[in-house]
Amino acid sequence: MKELKLEVILSTEKKQKPSFDHLEFGKYFTDHMFIWNYTEGKGWHDPRIVPYQPITLDPAATVFHYGQTVFEGLKAYMTKDEQILLFRPDENFKRFNRSNDRLVMPELDEEGALSALKQLIQIERDWIPTAEGTSLYIRPFMIATEAFLGVHPAKTYQFMIILSPVGAYYKEGINPVKIAVESEYVRAVAGGTGNAKTAGNYAASLKAGEIASENGYSQVLWLDGKENQYIEEVGSMNVFFKINGEVITPALNGSILEGITRKSVIELLNYMNIPIVERKISIHEIQQAYQDGVLEEAFGSGTAAVISPIGELLWKNEKMVINNGEIGSVSKQVYDTLTGIQNGIKEDPFGWAVRV
Ligand SMILES: *Cc1c(COP(=O)(O)O)cnc(C)c1O
Repeated sequence: MKELKLEVILSTEKKQKPSFDHLEFGKYFTDHMFIWNYTEGKGWHDPRIVPYQPITLDPAATVFHYGQTVFEGLKAYMTKDEQILLFRPDENFKRFNRSNDRLVMPELDEEGALSALKQLIQIERDWIPTAEGTSLYIRPFMIATEAFLGVHPAKTYQFMIILSPVGAYYKEGINPVKIAVESEYVRAVAGGTGNAKTAGNYAASLKAGEIASENGYSQVLWLDGKENQYIEEVGSMNVFFKINGEVITPALNGSILEGITRKSVIELLNYMNIPIVERKISIHEIQQAYQDGVLEEAFGSGTAAVISPIGELLWKNEKMVINNGEIGSVSKQVYDTLTGIQNGIKEDPFGWAVRV
């Protein structure tokens, strides 16, 4: 892989590291960050690793007004023998560029960005927690910085990477969550930006999440925005159901975000010879399967939790309790295998783990 030549300005004052036993998600940030600028006509320029610091932007910058911004999320893991592993990082930068294309933002040099990320992680290696389940969360993102209020794609951008040590998602074993099926709000519609990792989708999702939380539910199950019956995602995760021995996940349709964990779950289930299909699936079909006693497992998939089992679904006053509110055997196998590959403790027949 070609190495991106960049400038490095090291911080003179190191931060006090938080206690790695009490890490939360996305609360602490490391000593340095990566910045790369883009100017129309000039391309990408001035890649640099600098001390972590606030950024100064013109109040008229496009990102504040029209939301031209894209992000990614992945993790670095420290193995027992002190190797640093990333999980399919090339997939993240490929997806970054698909999102950029949708938001009319400039294409990033994927290899260059991965090289910059590796150099940044090397500098911050002491920030990678080592306890089981912990990791260094990586947030690459791009913003439109041009100071202009006209509605058109900006001419200047900034790509950045920040790093945050995060604790284990499951501190006391895997607890299945309660999910409310959302019948009023939608997260995204086909033709919109649902398949791009962009801020606006998250802003659009907060309201339903708040209401679910007030009612004692962890998150919502999103239905499609057109017919309000086909299942799309759960919270900000992709979703899987096991019905009568077969695993089903909604087929990509333009409003579903194409998760790298989702893709890995599908590839892994195929490898394990467990039937897996991608197709449309309605909430009515789930309800019928539940009533027939064949709704065996349900789980969300995403980088943060890897696998998040669903223990209960609430749909129009009907509570569907899945697998007695316990994690199912396929969910557990998939969780153990994926986290094992990520941490370098399980064999990786797919070549998914990449050394930094
Ligand atoms: C990031 C994201 C996911 C999960 O993607 P992973 O690559 O598996 O982390 C799923 N849904 C939405 C809406 C997302 O933003």
